[in-house]
Amino acid sequence: MFSKILSAFIQGLEVVLINVEADVSDGLPMFDMVGFLSSEVREARERVRTSIRNSNIKLPPKHIVLNLSPANIRKYGTCFDLAIALSVLSAMEYFPKNFIKDKLVLGELSLDGKVSPIRGILPIIVKAKNQGITSCILPVDNIKEASLVSGMNLYGVSKLADIISAFDKNKPLVPLHIDVADNISDVKEIEIDFSQIAGQETAKRAAVIAAAGFHNLLIVGPPGAGKTMLAKSISGILPKMSMEESLEVTKIYSVAGLLENDSPLITVRPFRSPHHTISQSAMSGGGKIPRPGEITLAHRGVLFLDELPEFEKNVLEVLRQPMEDGKIHISRVLGTYDYPADFLLAGSMNPCKCGYFPDYNKCTCTPDEVRRYLARVSRPLLDRIDLCTEMQTVSFDELQHSSGGITTEEIRQKVESARKIQRERYKNINIEFNSQLSNDQLEEICRLGKKEQEFMSMLYRKYDLTARSYHRILKVSRTIADLAGEESIKMSHIREAVCYRTMDRKFWTR
Ligand SMILES: [Zn+2]
Repeated sequence: MFSKILSAFIQGLEVVLINVEADVSDGLPMFDMVGFLSSEVREARERVRTSIRNSNIKLPPKHIVLNLSPANIRKYGTCFDLAIALSVLSAMEYFPKNFIKDKLVLGELSLDGKVSPIRGILPIIVKAKNQGITSCILPVDNIKEASLVSGMNLYGVSKLADIISAFDKNKPLVPLHIDVADNISDVKEIEIDFSQIAGQETAKRAAVIAAAGFHNLLIVGPPGAGKTMLAKSISGILPKMSMEESLEVTKIYSVAGLLENDSPLITVRPFRSPHHTISQSAMSGGGKIPRPGEITLAHRGVLFLDELPEFEKNVLEVLRQPMEDGKIHISRVLGTYDYPADFLLAGSMNPCKCGYFPDYNKCTCTPDEVRRYLARVSRPLLDRIDLCTEMQTVSFDELQHSSGGITTEEIRQKVESARKIQRERYKNINIEFNSQLSNDQLEEICRLGKKEQEFMSMLYRKYDLTARSYHRILKVSRTIADLAGEESIKMSHIREAVCYRTMDRKFWTR
């Protein structure tokens, strides 16, 4: 007797559909599994056998061969368990074959016959729907997430025995559907409101520009100046995610197993702030069973690196390629994966080891020590940061007289309108923000007037800019012009953009 069931697993972020085939015949009683399987898939044999037994089903002693095809793809993970069990039971005619025909079956089994939820349900269901599959048997705990995809019949099961008793007692399984719209709120919980940050007008302005054009930002200042607070407030002023972006981010968190069950769709831009002791693979993603790293979890949101020079050099170097391409390419023995990683990098650092340079009354570092400290952030990384702003400790006067500043909500509206201008401008090319402009596109889109061109060429010579910094000044000028609602880039926009290149002029060129 032969039976075949459709199942799937996640390879990187890609979904691979798999056929689980079972053949049951008389002969030496055994249970054999083939099909380029990793060890955890091989172990499914014991889990499936035990959970079938504990569901009060007695398997006759037969010769069972199980194959997972296509055989040229290495399979890993535990999401095939339920499909394997049903395939065997169907081959032994415990239920009619047409029950599983054209249905996708997913779920991990535990020894007592319970069906446990799996990671990556959302991308799997999306892929299945695109392939014309309309029904799916899956763990009941995954139903909420799967319900984000409309037009699928979802049969949620909590125990293997549920499926068998559906036929024994003639109580057919009915598709479940949860109206997820009730569970989705796009109201941002603002952790820190801009109006709470006293003084620091320049730094706040830099944060607004960063959010409006999705530019990377470096905040330099002494301890206690409020660098972390400013960085955290950025996620509140970023434009809202579109539905497409929400689904994209939710898929990543689904694969990473980080979706909270009560909020199936992520609508707020991610904010990730890994500790400086993070390893290279936790930052980039990877591992034996590949998982997305911090840079991918920060996709479409903010990656905040507090105390940038404290991170290991190799961890920071990992950021370079994704900061250019918006994705990371990982090669492992089991295959190569592309993870999306289009994030806004917000870094903060002290100006020196003790933190008080250039305040000579407080700073205890020698000039050499200052230089060495700053050199821990490599030039190529700095070249990829569009904006650098300095913060000073707030004076008592400023603290006293700063209240009722502009709120996060007011700023976000400004940012949204700058975003709208960008969306309109880039509707025919495949980018969303000014920071994503390639050099060729820059020439076309940030064309300068004669006066502005002369000013830029003067800057280029005077500050000995690299081509990269030159292009970054142009991009930031474009965002400043967009915030002002101006068609073309003016002198004042360039002048302001140059102010945010302190890393070219002051610290790092000495
Ligand atoms: Zn110092």
